[in-house]
Amino acid sequence: MTNDRYSSVNMDRDSFKKAGYELINRIAELLDTIGQKPVTPGETAGELREALGTSSLPLQGHPAEEILGRATDLMMGHSLFNGHPRFMGYITASPTPIGMLADLLAASVNANTGGQILSPMATEIEKQTVCWLAELIGVSGDYGGILVSGGNVANFTAFLAARAAKAPAEMKKGGLSSLPKKLITYCPRSTHTWIEKAVVLFGHGEDSLRWIPTDGSNKMNNRLLLEAIEKDIVEGHQPFLVIGTAGDVSTGVVDDLREISKICKEHDLWFHIDGAYGAPAATLPELENMFDGLEEADSIALDPHKWLYAPLEAGCTLVKDPKHLTDAFSSKPEYYKFDQEATGLSHNYFEYGLQNSRGFKALKVWLAIQQAGKEGYVRMIRDDIELSKMLFALADEHEELEAVTNHLSITTLRYVPKNIPTDNDDYLNRLNESLVDVLQMGGKAFLSNAVIDGRYCLRSCIVNFRTTERDIEETIDIIVDEGRKLHRERMRQ
Ligand SMILES: *Cc1c(COP(=O)(O)O)cnc(C)c1O
Repeated sequence: MTNDRYSSVNMDRDSFKKAGYELINRIAELLDTIGQKPVTPGETAGELREALGTSSLPLQGHPAEEILGRATDLMMGHSLFNGHPRFMGYITASPTPIGMLADLLAASVNANTGGQILSPMATEIEKQTVCWLAELIGVSGDYGGILVSGGNVANFTAFLAARAAKAPAEMKKGGLSSLPKKLITYCPRSTHTWIEKAVVLFGHGEDSLRWIPTDGSNKMNNRLLLEAIEKDIVEGHQPFLVIGTAGDVSTGVVDDLREISKICKEHDLWFHIDGAYGAPAATLPELENMFDGLEEADSIALDPHKWLYAPLEAGCTLVKDPKHLTDAFSSKPEYYKFDQEATGLSHNYFEYGLQNSRGFKALKVWLAIQQAGKEGYVRMIRDDIELSKMLFALADEHEELEAVTNHLSITTLRYVPKNIPTDNDDYLNRLNESLVDVLQMGGKAFLSNAVIDGRYCLRSCIVNFRTTERDIEETIDIIVDEGRKLHRERMRQ
């Protein structure tokens, strides 16, 4: 080895620029034409494997430009684009261009945000981002928190903070089995599946979870919540955590947060709000009442990679008193000498969450917040909600569509052929299930599904700053068109 070491993954300045500019050109082209492409090519796994080719593990190296070009072809020619204006499935956002560039910058400096000494500026930016996210959704900027990979991990992180705060201190040593009382969690029926994973993974078990029925408006029935808590106390258990939802994943309903917070205060319970999808809508002045009580939460999960349009991945856990995060996650082995008393570089994110080495997810969120400003976000989120209402209204007017629900930016609807009565759920459920499949493979408009009171529905969630009124009109036409075709085929059989 000489001082001029050769390494096969390095790139000299000129070849880096050449490959990089070419990539940027291709991305710019994609962003410019994304609406004219199919949402997805709808290929089978076999077709995809064929496109990928069946080559074995490379033994020799290849030129960077060549393989990067091929990767770009593969990704651009065979992907589902959630940035497409008619992508309305699930809750995955159209990604911000500035977020794309931010990820490149973050990877280039490669700050390890686990320790502040390793990521001096990145840690400061993450702290500021957490504070801005709190202020954006209208809670105190004193909430602390951490950026994580997404909603699931944001909720897990809050769950563990809640447990550190409310479980008896002996748990740290003896584990859950050393506790005299079982720790009980309460959540509405509409809660996302993360909670089932959490109680199983963290050792509480499914029996420790109380699913509280929802009322007629699909909010948690808080009277039944209170009854369940009182019953558990009488039976010798320890209630510790109540979860409220700010925008349920299926239909977008926000629970009565104020009422839940009162119940939690009365019984000294941790109040967690899952706002993975809906929390950013709290920034809209006209929705102040809907989110009343948000600022009472001990912890809030939100997902910048949903309604703040960050490219995957970016979730965030906010905790009213961040000490509960360090209580849950801090353990300092001797080989970490990270507290820099003299310089004040002592905010080490490895003590705030599950990860040790961490990337710099905050950068893309921090940049987008500055690019849009709070006002920009208010406008984009409001427009998404307006478009969702428009979809509901058009479905409602159409004689072959049934508009079912509309909350925040989620609308559910179903296709009902002219001669089929709306109570023929058997037939309509099968028809609409096939319709979702056809739409998801067809590439014209991408919706997902929801089951509402036994009715299988199409579900549209708009967290997409590219969607326009024309896309909504076209989506209606596409749904009706495909629905008719499917119905006709079935009638012929
Ligand atoms: C999407 C979502 C989650 C899960 O978030 P991921 O980012 O997919 O991990 C949890 N809760 C709610 C309410 C959601 O909408």
